[in-house]
Amino acid sequence: MKYSLIADAYKNIESTSKRLEMTDYLVKLIKQTPKNLLSKVAYLTQGKLHPDFDGIEISMAERMVIMCLVKISGKKKNEVTKTWKIIGDLGSTADRLLSEQYTMKLITSLPLTVEKVYNTLDKIAHTSGKGTVGIKVSLLADLLIGATSKEARYLVRTVMGKLRLGIGDMTFLDALAIAYGEGKHSRVDVERAYNMSSDLGLVSETLANEGLEGIRRFRIRIGRPIRPMLCERLTTADEILTKLGGWGSAEFKYDGLRIQAHITSAGISLFSRRLENITSQFPDIIKALASSVNAEELIVEGECVAVDPNTDEMLPFQVVTQRRGRKYEIKRMTKEIPVVLILFDALYVDGKSLIDLPYLKRRQILKKMVRETNGIRMTHPLITDNPVELDALMDTAAETGYEGLVIKSIGSNSIYQAGARGFLWIKYKREYRSDMADMVDLVVVGAFAGRGRRAGTYGALLMASYDEELDAFKTVCKLGSGFDDATLARLPKIFEADRIDHAHPRVESKIEADFWFVPRKVLELIGSELTLSPLHTCGLDIIKKDVGLAIRFPRFAGKWRDDKASEDATTVKEIISMYRSQLKHV
Ligand code: ATP
Repeated sequence: MKYSLIADAYKNIESTSKRLEMTDYLVKLIKQTPKNLLSKVAYLTQGKLHPDFDGIEISMAERMVIMCLVKISGKKKNEVTKTWKIIGDLGSTADRLLSEQYTMKLITSLPLTVEKVYNTLDKIAHTSGKGTVGIKVSLLADLLIGATSKEARYLVRTVMGKLRLGIGDMTFLDALAIAYGEGKHSRVDVERAYNMSSDLGLVSETLANEGLEGIRRFRIRIGRPIRPMLCERLTTADEILTKLGGWGSAEFKYDGLRIQAHITSAGISLFSRRLENITSQFPDIIKALASSVNAEELIVEGECVAVDPNTDEMLPFQVVTQRRGRKYEIKRMTKEIPVVLILFDALYVDGKSLIDLPYLKRRQILKKMVRETNGIRMTHPLITDNPVELDALMDTAAETGYEGLVIKSIGSNSIYQAGARGFLWIKYKREYRSDMADMVDLVVVGAFAGRGRRAGTYGALLMASYDEELDAFKTVCKLGSGFDDATLARLPKIFEADRIDHAHPRVESKIEADFWFVPRKVLELIGSELTLSPLHTCGLDIIKKDVGLAIRFPRFAGKWRDDKASEDATTVKEIISMYRSQLKHV
């Protein structure tokens, strides 16, 4: 397969901001792809080579790409850098430099194939140790020499981890369902397989080779993370119990990192909420799990929380996050910041999926398979139908410093809904009871230049919620307060790598920001209330024509939610229901 088919598709996708058109271009590309290459093409369209949980990243540094462009264009380094500074993107710089040599190339080169591109990129990703820079540069040069200028543009963006086509996983699943299923409605089946495997490539290939039947036969496998089930939110104990059909299982909501542990007798892997493999960062959890599990194969979920080594008191989220992303000094960190894993669910045991069993049944299996120890603990649910009891437990949670409660359905349909945010699990947080102020996690999509004291940095950030149906981001407020001076000063640096020169194709905004970003960073913020607003696109036309929803007086609440992908941000649907529930409570 010629790589030019992919480059053409990328170009078309980039030229539109309409999701339906994007999907059409993807469908065409999927149909043009031989079945045995489909998984590779699926990863490539996401700017990757493997599923996230494999942890293999291409990312070549700017300076290496510049070295490579110098090598193949015959230009001096300062000329390449000058062109780059004018254009602002190394992909387009490569395009420009190569188009100057185009006539010569037509005569000399054979077309670049997807196989060659994939294999070379994979080599680049796997190159490490001595002489890495030289090897990576010559591997990339080898590709670019055979590339057209358009292909070079996308190759460079891919190796730099900056492809940014704006295709969310859900858009790709839609395209798959259209290309190989029975149309868009087959997305349900395709998405289910994706939720069980978190592997777009595997799902693509299974659907292409085995059809919908194969996709329906799809099973959980140890070592491939299951996409996490998430909570909806409600603001009173009465509402929660009513929604759950009278009874619920209430547990403390621990403020830590969610971990999914895949345990076999051969080894244990840990995955984060974003499905990265974080095994190497928590040797203490691995050791503790190994001695408390009584099964050949087990997948369990829980919250990893930092504890004070002197008092055994649980410490806030900010403490445990210091254990994340560490490559070095892990041993020292395990001593300085000890953690415990508090398990709340079991999803798979000895060859059997548990996700279609009701919650209490899964808990029974969890208790049978895992022995509580100092490092591995379990939530201790209160099963209740009494709102007064629920509020009393909430008081205890608040006094003890927990975030609140998670109340779970115990009905016969209380399955584990992988990858879904639904009302089978409902969070009830402390802050819901004080003022309107719900904490929300929003995505930074743009920024405004600072004035006065803030000259030289950003005055405010443009924040957006996630629209699951459209796989897009809709603005809901400008966030300027709650940052300390040091963070404020660092904002341009923090967002430097995410800068683009126009609104990202997945961002819907009526406001023109001074700076636009790839929607990647998620912040936690709190506001005083939700109001109707003609300026924002979150909930546009839902409550009132031409009007959306805005958060009044938003304030940064101190947490950068690096554990969340932009698709994990608070959804438009949640914000609409928060607005409605606010109306009920005035
Ligand atoms: P938040 O930002 O409120 O932590 P979230 O968006 O990360 O929420 P939600 O689905 O809204 O995720 O809330 C559930 C999260 O709460 C889980 O992802 C998990 O990390 C955490 N949690 C803590 N204690 C529990 C518990 N007992 N049961 C389930 N989840 C729990």
